[in-house]
Amino acid sequence: MKHETILVIGANGQIGTALLPRLQSMYGFGNVIATDVRRTGNEEAIFEIVDATNASALAEIVQRHRVTQIYHLAAILSAKGEADPLWAWNLNMQTLLNVLEVARTCNLSKVFVPSSIAAFGEHAPKYETPQSSVLDPATVYGISKVAAENWSVYYHKRYGLDVRSLRYPGVISYQSMPGGGTTDYAVAIYHEAVQGHDFDCFLSADTLLPMIYMDDALRATLELMEAPAENITVRTSYNLAGMSFTPAELATSIRRYYPDFNVTYTPDFRQAIADSWPKSIDDSVARKEWGWKPAFDLPKMTAEMISHLTELYHVTI
Ligand code: NAD
Repeated sequence: MKHETILVIGANGQIGTALLPRLQSMYGFGNVIATDVRRTGNEEAIFEIVDATNASALAEIVQRHRVTQIYHLAAILSAKGEADPLWAWNLNMQTLLNVLEVARTCNLSKVFVPSSIAAFGEHAPKYETPQSSVLDPATVYGISKVAAENWSVYYHKRYGLDVRSLRYPGVISYQSMPGGGTTDYAVAIYHEAVQGHDFDCFLSADTLLPMIYMDDALRATLELMEAPAENITVRTSYNLAGMSFTPAELATSIRRYYPDFNVTYTPDFRQAIADSWPKSIDDSVARKEWGWKPAFDLPKMTAEMISHLTELYHVTI
């Protein structure tokens, strides 16, 4: 494999925390530079504090480490973004433009910029949402993702930058807590069940949403980044599917292990966001072009989540 030095921006978030060890084993511990605006104290990586809204700080670290690829994971997510839309827009766009510019000026070989199912809105088909659908998002987060997809195409067409992207569904993981999205309930519910607590869900029982287990999300990311450039025809962002389920179905899958697990439903402002999103995703273009195939369904994911979280909390089922 060609020598690569990878910069991960937003490395202490939900996806970065799980992605780092994979990148380290692929490229070597010393060739992966983790950055974030905050420390967790658990960093097992070469780590530096870098605010990606600061273009010169970003350029400095890229040059000093001779970075060849960037995974840009810093963003303000859907629910958090609604609390302060202009702040979310500014952060999401400024970090994106800084990443694209440094990648262009420093001739980086590849850039990964995730999008989201939040790019879709009210007028996209709700079931099996196709790759090419109208993008009329309801949140500032979604608006920033649509803009990012278009900027990525622009940099690809105008400058030849090899920028790649996935529209992640809600990502479910045990490695770290999610950062303020509308699908966060699907992580929190496992933590409460394993600790023997009841769970109050902020979405209604029948809210069907597309989700993916972290293991599948990481494999998709790395497979996309490894795919030959000539296979990549989508430079906005690839639709990606894992599974779709409702909170009630998730609770039922957890009750196989905890029959007395009690869930109540108190929908809040996040219900309207969830209602504006697809219920299932057609990812046939990703399957065809670079061989994507998910490995985790709901029962398999629940078994893994409970196994890892019982270990984390030192409890038995
Ligand atoms: P997260 O909120 O858990 O992590 C984002 C990280 O970025 C945080 O650690 C934060 O401290 C850092 N950050 C914020 N501002 C920064 C700045 N100015 N400079 C540097 N770092 C900064 O998010 P995540 O869930 O890991 O998501 C990663 C990417 O995947 C985002 O683009 C997100 O939109 C996308 N995505 C995530 C999901 C999901 O379910 N987790 C779904 C769809 C898309």
